[in-house]
Amino acid sequence: MVLDKVNKWYGAMHVLRDVTLSVATGERVVVCGPSGSGKSTMIRCINRLEQHQEGRIIVDNMELTDDTRSLDAIRREVGMVFQSFNLFPHLTVLENCTLAPIWVRHMPKKEAEALAMEYLARVKIPEQAHKYPGQLSGGQQQRVAIARALCMKPKIMLFDEPTSALDPEMIKEVLDTMVGLAETGMTMVCVTHEMGFARQVADRVVFMDRGEIVESGVPEQLFNDPKTDRLKTFLSQIL
Ligand code: ADP
Ligand code: MG
Repeated sequence: MVLDKVNKWYGAMHVLRDVTLSVATGERVVVCGPSGSGKSTMIRCINRLEQHQEGRIIVDNMELTDDTRSLDAIRREVGMVFQSFNLFPHLTVLENCTLAPIWVRHMPKKEAEALAMEYLARVKIPEQAHKYPGQLSGGQQQRVAIARALCMKPKIMLFDEPTSALDPEMIKEVLDTMVGLAETGMTMVCVTHEMGFARQVADRVVFMDRGEIVESGVPEQLFNDPKTDRLKTFLSQIL
């Protein structure tokens, strides 16, 4: 996946400034930075929930353009997990997981269910398959959201602060699920301030501030030897 000099404005506000980032297959990148620095906007541009105005975004060798066919193709390859789990409340856990494979990938229902059960087992909640999201804890709902995204067999997974809406005792179960996913070799871009997670799985950490990538490097280097005052200030606030 490549972002090449991506710029985006909301009205007059310049929210992404020449953002350039490439993520190789199997690579894990953690994105951190203060609130309002453009992290969500960048993630949302990668699967076209938002549109950038300048620069290029290339996912799985396809450039993001207004062509709806390439957009559909890219959305099939990019899994997304949000802060607010965004499960369908009127569908069971299993139905949440089989909806897109059946309707978008045209997978037979039985096959989609078998696949969903496989991923629900991987996120360690197969016994919740027939419950509704409202009957689950926040941590369990987020693990369902991860399983649901995986059911589309994405080539890359994007996470936007997946643990920041969770009570502390549930953060670990979701992070453990993400570590497990990283161990399978999945390509991942994770916006998170969980620095323990970053140290454990990130090949690279990217620090954003005011719409720019200010620093990037391996976790040790970035956390132990920040070059800019902006990163020093940020780290002093979160650590
Ligand atoms: P982060 O995820 O790092 O907190 P965001 O990407 O959400 O930052 O926001 C970047 C900037 O863009 C912020 O100033 C925010 O207020 C603004 N912004 C985000 N979404 C919108 C929107 N839909 N319309 C207008 N401004 C927005
Ligand atoms: Mg955000």
